[in-house]
Amino acid sequence: MAEQLESQETNQPKGLNFVEQIVYDDLQAGKNSGRLNTRFPPEPNGYLHIGHVKAICMDFGVAERFGGTCNLRFDDTNPVKEDVEYVDSIRNDIHWLGFDWGDREYYASDYFPQLFDLAVRLIKEGKAYVDDQTSEEIAAQKGTPTTPGTESPYRNRTPEENLDLFMRMNQGEFDEGARVLRAKIDMASSNMHFRDPIMYRIIKHPHHRTGDKWKVYPMYDFAHGQSDYFEGVTHSICTLEFVPHRPLYDYFVDELADETYRPRQIEFNRLNLTYTVMSKRKLLQLVKEGLVQGWDDPRMPTISGMRRRGYTPRSIRNFIDRIGYTKYEALNSISLLEHAVREDLNSVATRVMAVINPLKVTIANYPDDKVETVQLENNPENPAEGTHSMPFSRELYIERDDFMECPPKKFFRLAPGGEVRLKGAYIIKCTDVVKDSEGNITELICTYDPDTLSGMPGSMRKVKGTLHWVSARHAVSATARIYDRLFNVENPAAEPDRDFREMLNPDSLKIIEDIKVEPYLAENAQPGKQFQFQRIGYFTPDLDSRPDALVFNRTIALKDSWEKAQNK
Ligand code: ATP
Ligand code: MG
Repeated sequence: MAEQLESQETNQPKGLNFVEQIVYDDLQAGKNSGRLNTRFPPEPNGYLHIGHVKAICMDFGVAERFGGTCNLRFDDTNPVKEDVEYVDSIRNDIHWLGFDWGDREYYASDYFPQLFDLAVRLIKEGKAYVDDQTSEEIAAQKGTPTTPGTESPYRNRTPEENLDLFMRMNQGEFDEGARVLRAKIDMASSNMHFRDPIMYRIIKHPHHRTGDKWKVYPMYDFAHGQSDYFEGVTHSICTLEFVPHRPLYDYFVDELADETYRPRQIEFNRLNLTYTVMSKRKLLQLVKEGLVQGWDDPRMPTISGMRRRGYTPRSIRNFIDRIGYTKYEALNSISLLEHAVREDLNSVATRVMAVINPLKVTIANYPDDKVETVQLENNPENPAEGTHSMPFSRELYIERDDFMECPPKKFFRLAPGGEVRLKGAYIIKCTDVVKDSEGNITELICTYDPDTLSGMPGSMRKVKGTLHWVSARHAVSATARIYDRLFNVENPAAEPDRDFREMLNPDSLKIIEDIKVEPYLAENAQPGKQFQFQRIGYFTPDLDSRPDALVFNRTIALKDSWEKAQNK
């Protein structure tokens, strides 16, 4: 026995989180004939957000890890709020993240007939009754966790009467809210969810899949566990707020399961992120009120927003991996997500030159009609990515911030009389500053050292600063959208007394017109591609971008990586 335990311990895969451990133990114990089937159960009433990614990575990840399968199940039990637009976006987002459910796409509405049959059976067995009270009356009778509830005056109707009323509810004879079907369990239970929970309510709104076939719709608690059972789900993984629902989950599953198979609910902590709201209701409100430009606005914490902003699936999954799964609620820092994004973009983004706030530079000793081509490394992290070429000519743009007329001591960029290297090209020296009548600098006159191009004897000559630049004649004009955090309060959800819209960051989007980008981007900037504007940040072409009107979203700022690169 001791030996057996030991060998089991050594065979155990490393680094399991607590959910994986439970699944592993169940499989070892031969539960459900060794089958593993999870599900991801979104309600199609909004777009998926980063919180859902945590659930998706768990549901699909655990199935992948132990050779099981994961279903996609749309929890479509409330036709009022649901829509096919959401179904389509959810499918698309899960695929984009890199997960696949094969042909196992299901809908809770597929089980409406079986759920209805079960309800009828429970009515006949005296375990369910039709209550004619209003939802307010029912709520008032619930009691509190420390005081028992009050039984409904309709609780002891006969099964015949209940059955008749339930059938008529479903035939549309009664108004919404006039009657509900409740489970007859225990109004004094210490678990509030056992105090005769509502099983069915009347909704007279067409359903996006079943049309107007049904007039009664099951509540989450009466649908979820049974849907798991009908589908053969073995591990129903959800978030901590469902812990108190679990006994009810088991109660309804008991009506169906036998000893050979039963689904099991396991809960982990939700993802909460700083400077973000995650409630679908609030996100919908932002969209509906035009406070953002849609579900896929790059400031939104939705998968489609993050995709549009330029986050990669790998960066998001790495972030989820790092924060891990526990049994305790936590608030994760958005910086951690941003770090994961930078880390991945650093390895995949193509390096290009773009000048956000252009200042013209004329190289006085460079021939007017001459154009040279310099080679730029696409990605120093991955030399296999090769190079692309960029034209150099007499008139250039540099970043306005990279010049100072009266620089402080440690300013290593351009100043009168000073030298800098133009990245990938020559060393230049500023000889003159041109100003307009108001004293604004309009142009710099420089000279170049023709001996300092790569491969030439002077190419090793050292100067302190290296600047990005573009050739004025060849540069392409573009628009940059600079995003910042959507909220300026660390935890908007923790401020229940304030309207969350007051906490929106007024500077979450800045639009900069007429930035100058190298001509390579005119042909190579398609949405979905990642670029590093050298020394500026990571950018991706927006969905609105066209070859003749380029629009770039800033995915994220670079931070100090340029300084590091310079010190190498
Ligand atoms: P609501 O039910 O209020 O519409 P929801 O966020 O629970 O919103 P669902 O579509 O029901 O949305 O969620 C699908 C799955 O995603 C559920 O299993 C849920 O537990 C999980 N999920 C939702 N939000 C988070 C989150 N912030 N962190 C982890 N998992 C989440
Ligand atoms: Mg939910």
